[in-house]
Amino acid sequence: MNASSVGQGVGQEVVRPTRQRLVIGNWKMHGNLVDNANLLGALRQASPACELAVCVPFPYLVQTADLLKGSRVSWGVQDVSKHNQGAFTGEVSALMLNDFGCKWAIVGHSERRAMHGETDQLVADKAAAAVAAGLTPVVCVGETLSERDAGQVFDVIHRQLSPVLALGEAALQRMVIAYEPVWAIGTGRTATPEQAQEVHAAIRAALVGKQSSDVRVLYGGSVKAANAASLFGMPDIDGALVGGASLVADEFLKIAAA
Ligand code: PEP
Repeated sequence: MNASSVGQGVGQEVVRPTRQRLVIGNWKMHGNLVDNANLLGALRQASPACELAVCVPFPYLVQTADLLKGSRVSWGVQDVSKHNQGAFTGEVSALMLNDFGCKWAIVGHSERRAMHGETDQLVADKAAAAVAAGLTPVVCVGETLSERDAGQVFDVIHRQLSPVLALGEAALQRMVIAYEPVWAIGTGRTATPEQAQEVHAAIRAALVGKQSSDVRVLYGGSVKAANAASLFGMPDIDGALVGGASLVADEFLKIAAA
């Protein structure tokens, strides 16, 4: 792995790998044609210092592709089917998403795991379908508050990751992992940089075991401009998956600048 030095004063130099920083917005079920046009118009003008993307609701893919084409911001979706086509009412396949220039597909977001009963294996199957179609899945993992309080954080993360890791090195190299503690999503309560780093380091160790140490691991959970820099200062945090704050162009771009 390549590494670059980030000077932090004499005797305090931190060596951080050169994995490209990545910030992805998850619009969830928000937006309308008018608000989207304003938001996407502002993002289109941006020259982000990191890789920047938005994952939008399916109906707004055409609008998003039209408005972001030729810009430095890429786009994707918040879920994908594990199937390519067939009698799967309501589902959208990764192959279809290719028609709209999608780069990213979030899979296994905690809201889908909790509200739609998505299992660890289904999430891995969706990630595999995305990779097979040339998309980059953003695989979300994270513990609930009761799991954290019960001291089960690492067991939960390893259980969720296990079928994803089983897809093997070639597939892993084409993924992004997002650590999103459920208790921090949309609550305004962020993991401290140290709490997040501890879990990111464990995810990195699991990836290293699969010769995939360069896979980017994002943090998600109430990331804002005010807390982004301290999170991004951690050695195994490669960027963020941003929910609420990605709906406000100025705030989202400040996170990207951090
Ligand atoms: C998310 O939806 O993935 C998320 C992290 O949301 P928020 O930033 O609003 O907590």
